[in-house]
Amino acid sequence: MAHNSTTERLLSSNAKWRPSWTTPVTMGQMRQGAAINKPLMIITCMDPRCEPTKFLGSEAGPFATVSNAGGRATADAVRSILVFRSLFVASERVTVAVVQHTDCGVTYFDDQHVKDEVKERTPAEAARADAIEFGTFAAEDLEDTIRKDVQSLKDEKMLEGVDVLGFNFITETGELKLVC
Ligand SMILES: [Zn+2]
Repeated sequence: MAHNSTTERLLSSNAKWRPSWTTPVTMGQMRQGAAINKPLMIITCMDPRCEPTKFLGSEAGPFATVSNAGGRATADAVRSILVFRSLFVASERVTVAVVQHTDCGVTYFDDQHVKDEVKERTPAEAARADAIEFGTFAAEDLEDTIRKDVQSLKDEKMLEGVDVLGFNFITETGELKLVC
């Protein structure tokens, strides 16, 4: 196993933090609704400034989180929602909150830029890079992108019965703004 400074950082951080950990409820208890009476999943950006535990504090939890570049409603986000949905009894209404944010990294370049970089580093994988939708968008289109992603989840027939909300997290002020 390769050890480097990141390995040390992760293990020593965990060792310092671990005494504060208390054993949580089990998945079985969560599925029975012992800990979660309103199942909530948050789809948000992988940006460390956009962490739900930070912008929601401890009031809204527990909730499940999907983090990806831009907080986009990707096929893999749908996969996670479906798994999350299956963990609860059918009568339980699941809410999904799409949270994207200002000053997001994906607004700093376009899809072609990412494709070109991948192809430059790994030319043999050019066709695969071209096939990936990286989900970048312009900063001024942020709220339109939130609306579009919310609508795409609402339009997904497999997600029938799932409530979907869209929020803009204002990175500069910490405000969570309801968009749709
Ligand atoms: Zn972001």
